[in-house]
Amino acid sequence: MPENLVEDFITRRKKRISPGERRLSRFLLFCEDVVKVPLFGCQRCGECILSSTALVCCQRCPKRLRNGPCGGTRDNGRCEVYPERNCVWFLIHKRSRMMRRVSALRAIQKIHNWELEGTSAWLNVFTRRIEPPVLFLRKSKKESGVRS
Ligand code: SF4
Ligand code: SF4
Repeated sequence: MPENLVEDFITRRKKRISPGERRLSRFLLFCEDVVKVPLFGCQRCGECILSSTALVCCQRCPKRLRNGPCGGTRDNGRCEVYPERNCVWFLIHKRSRMMRRVSALRAIQKIHNWELEGTSAWLNVFTRRIEPPVLFLRKSKKESGVRS
């Protein structure tokens, strides 16, 4: 597979996280948790894609899917694993429509780098281990007319 294509799907392997960086990461993760756990139910994946999922954490999906639903979402929008809960991806799509950010869902998210699990996503952006948040999107004509 061509190298640039690989990089589209896999977080490029950066140099190993040093003990010093890990300590800093632990401290920043503590600060991150204070905000992101109560607000978004953050699962500490270390590769935050909240900006692409309309501020709904996709890692609350029991299968930890990062690129859309598993296909088992029930007709009423409930999760196939926990029928008492809404499917996380149902919520993401609903919120994306409200926020007019559906186009963000078309981008393919990289395969999760499990080495970054439990690290600070803020630090990972700063050290360029992961992509920065997507703040501005080009909206398609279809998105500018949101149906209720
Ligand atoms: S995408 Fe990852 S870092 Fe961002 S809120 Fe969800 S679990 Fe936390
Ligand atoms: S139904 Fe939705 S929340 Fe449940 S496992 Fe599938 S994608 Fe995840």
